[in-house]
Amino acid sequence: MNSLQVNDTICALATPTGTGAIAVVRVSGSRSLESVNSLFVAAGTKNLLEIAGHQAVFGRIKDGDQWLDEVLLTVFRAPRSFTGEDGVEISCHGSPYIIQRLLQLLHEQQIRLAKPGEFTQRAFLNGRMDLSQAEAVADLIAAENQAAHRVALDQLRGGFSGKLKHLRQELIDFAALVELELDFTEEDVEFADRSQLFSLLNRLEKEIERLSTSFATGQAIKEGIPVAIVGEPNVGKSTLLNALFQEEKALVSDIAGTTRDSIEDTLVLDGLKFRFIDTAGIRETTDHVEQLGIARTFEKIRRAAMILYMVDLGMPLTGHVQALERIREEAGDRPVLIVLNKRDRFGSQEAEELLKAEGRLLVISAREEIGLHELREVLLEECRRHYRFQEDVIVTNVRHQGELQAAGAALQAVHRGLMDGVSGEFIAMDIRLALEHLGHITGEIGTEELLGSIFSRFCIGK
Ligand code: GDP
Repeated sequence: MNSLQVNDTICALATPTGTGAIAVVRVSGSRSLESVNSLFVAAGTKNLLEIAGHQAVFGRIKDGDQWLDEVLLTVFRAPRSFTGEDGVEISCHGSPYIIQRLLQLLHEQQIRLAKPGEFTQRAFLNGRMDLSQAEAVADLIAAENQAAHRVALDQLRGGFSGKLKHLRQELIDFAALVELELDFTEEDVEFADRSQLFSLLNRLEKEIERLSTSFATGQAIKEGIPVAIVGEPNVGKSTLLNALFQEEKALVSDIAGTTRDSIEDTLVLDGLKFRFIDTAGIRETTDHVEQLGIARTFEKIRRAAMILYMVDLGMPLTGHVQALERIREEAGDRPVLIVLNKRDRFGSQEAEELLKAEGRLLVISAREEIGLHELREVLLEECRRHYRFQEDVIVTNVRHQGELQAAGAALQAVHRGLMDGVSGEFIAMDIRLALEHLGHITGEIGTEELLGSIFSRFCIGK
C-alpha cells in the first residue's frame, strides 16, 4: 500500500470562488467535527458531536464574540464519507469575506488548506475508490455534455475497474497455467493443452485491444468529434456554422451565462460534442478546387474524424469529382459527406429533381436554413457508425490508454514467446509486466510520483 501519510485535517472551498448565493466549505479528517464544533452554535439542542453521519444541522459560526454567518452543516462519519474520514460540509453564504474568514477560523483550529485534489486522493488512499475511479471524479466535474457525463459516471461507478479486475484475474490464471507447464517440462511431459493457453491468451489480447481502441471514442466524447468543413471560398461554410450555432444557442439560451463565446467552435448535438476544425480560418482559405493539394486542406482532413465537402450549387459543378477523389483518398475510411449549398437559388421543382438525382447527397441552404435538420441527423448517424458509443467500457484517459497499450505489447511478447518455445520463466516475466501495467491503471501498483502528478491536476477543493 502507499506510504503517504493521511492524518491531518484539511479544509477548502468546494464551490467556485465568486459571489454565489451559497458556498460550501469542505472539512475532512479526524478532527473535523471537534474543530468545527468549537466554532459552531447549533440552533437546536444537539451539538455537532452528537449528530449522526449523513445529517444536517442548522446554526451559526462564531467569530470571537460576534457571529460570522448562519450556516447549514452536513456531518459525515468515517468510513461513510467521500474521503472515508470524518468530515463536515459547511454551507455558508457566498460572500468572499465570509468564505475567507471561515477558512481563517478553521486554520486557527489547526485545519490546514487542502492541496489540489487532496480530498479525492484521500478517498483513493482510504480505499473508497481505485485510481481510475478517482480520475473519473475530475472527468465528471468537467463533463459538459451528456456522453462525457455518461462515460465519467460509468468509470466512477467502477465499470472500468471491474473489467480490469477481471482481466487481471484471467492473467493470473494464465500465469498459473504457464507455470504448470514449466513444472512438467523438466520431466519431459508435454503439457496437455497448449491450445487452452493460446485461446486464453487470444481472448485477453482481444479484450485489451478492444479497450485500447475504445480510446478514440473516448477522446471524441471528451474533446469533441473533430469535423472538417472544406470547400472553395464563398460556398457558405461560415454561414452553415453560424446557422448551426445559432440554433444551439437558441436551444440553450434559457441557461444563464451560456453564450456563443463559451461554445466557440464546438456544438452539442443530441448529447455529443462536435468540434469544427479551424472554423475561424475558413473564410481566409483559398483552397480552390485546383489548389486542393494545398497543405491546409489536407491538414484539416488529417485532424478530422469526418469531413463535410461543401459545394455551391450556384457555381459551375466542374472539378468536384477530381477534388473529391483526392479528399476521399486522404480520408481513408473516415466519412466524407457532400453538402450542396444554396438550394434556394433553384426553384423548388429543380431542387426536388436534384435531390432525386443525387440520392444521399445533402442539399441545403445554409442561409435560408433549409435541410439543416437532415444534415444534423446525417452527422449523428455517420458518427455513430464511425465510433463505438455502445461499448460497455470506454477508455477516455490518455494515461490509461498508455498502460493498456503497454500491457498489450507485453502480451504480444508472451504470444511470441509461446510460439517460439521460449522458456517459461521469460514468459512469466512478460505476464508479470502486463499485470503491472494493468495495476498502474487502478493504482494497485503505483508510485508516489504517479499519484502526485495525477492529483496535482485537480483543482483545490476536489
Ligand atoms: P465561406 O467562404 O465558404 O465561409 O462562405 P460564406 O459563408 O462566407 O458565404 C459566402 C456567401 O454565400 C455569403 O454572401 C452568404 O450570404 C452566401 N450564402 C451562404 N449560404 C447561402 C445559401 O444557402 N443561399 C444563398 N443564396 N446564399 C448563401
